[in-house]
Amino acid sequence: MIDPVISAPVNPSLVNDERWMNCALALAAQAADLGEVPVGAVVVIDGQEVGAGFNKPISSCDPTAHAEICALRQAAAYLNNYRLSGATLYVTLEPCTMCVGAIVHSRISRVVYGATEPKAGAVESARRTFDEPHFNWRVETRGGVLAEPCGRIISDFFSRRRELRRQSAKTE
Ligand code: ZN
Repeated sequence: MIDPVISAPVNPSLVNDERWMNCALALAAQAADLGEVPVGAVVVIDGQEVGAGFNKPISSCDPTAHAEICALRQAAAYLNNYRLSGATLYVTLEPCTMCVGAIVHSRISRVVYGATEPKAGAVESARRTFDEPHFNWRVETRGGVLAEPCGRIISDFFSRRRELRRQSAKTE
């Protein structure tokens, strides 16, 4: 008798990570349409989206309007609770120091991000803010989910902007 072929089980949470990251990517595209650096974020709890946002500091005249902050605010308002424990935040770019602080304040349980941010990333790149001992809340992190398209949407945005500036300099 031949043993049945046993395939490795697919981890459903990892598959869902890609699915939700695609939602965050669609939000990032909305930011690009407004001329904002394209970063998108979604807050998910029990498999349901409870908050979403994209980077819009310029159009909203709000220096704190990063994608993560917008999504956290919407999720907290929707749940009518300033604590979001049990929730996962998906964001296309590694969070900055401000957003890591907001994530800890909100008691998010898990953060999944796409591309790393070498200059200002506060999870693994420029610093490891979640690991600072004074934080009394531990957040599970996973980076590199759909990193390629998450990084490409930003590099495409900047190269398009440079091209537009070159063109307008020529016509002046
Ligand atoms: Zn940020």
